Amino acid sequence: MVKLAFGKGPKHRCGLLLILLAWAALLSGCVQRGIERSTFRTVVIDPGHGGHDAGANPRGVSPEKFWTLQVGLRLQKRLAQGGFYPVLTRTSDIFIPLDTRVGICNRQTNTIFVSIHFNATRKRDIRGIETYYSTARSADLAKLVHSSILRIPGAADRRVHTAAFHVIRKNAFPAILVEGGFLTNSAEAKRIASPAYLDALTERIYQGIVTYRGSEPGATSTAQ
Ligand code: ZN
Repeated sequence: MVKLAFGKGPKHRCGLLLILLAWAALLSGCVQRGIERSTFRTVVIDPGHGGHDAGANPRGVSPEKFWTLQVGLRLQKRLAQGGFYPVLTRTSDIFIPLDTRVGICNRQTNTIFVSIHFNATRKRDIRGIETYYSTARSADLAKLVHSSILRIPGAADRRVHTAAFHVIRKNAFPAILVEGGFLTNSAEAKRIASPAYLDALTERIYQGIVTYRGSEPGATSTAQ
């Protein structure tokens, strides 16, 4: 579950100009830093929420912040096995502001960003996987990770969407946000609470990242 963090819009042309200049600086920074889709090794993993921010917190199931960390830590291990350099925005149950999460990623030189969340809604029959991205350069990563996750038997497709979520909107690198199922759907919540599903979700996110990159970094180094 994600809350939008919009700033107040510009009230006059000067504000708009400043925003355009900031965008230009951000874009030129990306070019200078060189996003190399086929060579990146660093992956910033962002387990959503933490600390006083529980995220989705329906009765009878652990809060979203717990499950996002479970997947984040699994993905850290899996990425390292494949030869990637995983960087986590948090490794324990602590609150990390959204700007700090983005800053951790934007300090890297050649990376992608994957934010992990679980969903909630009042309509308890709704279930399935959603993946979000903000800018066009993240579309391929979103589509490949999403279609990979849908290979989990029984996964329901709630499609890839664009959204202005802070951690992906402010990101200087390809950035996606995965909603790995609905904690408000009793069957899906039970599924999420099983290690087998958490392992499968982790593996499918991992395989989507590898497909996006074209190969595992580890595969190249072991062949030499
Ligand atoms: Zn969330």
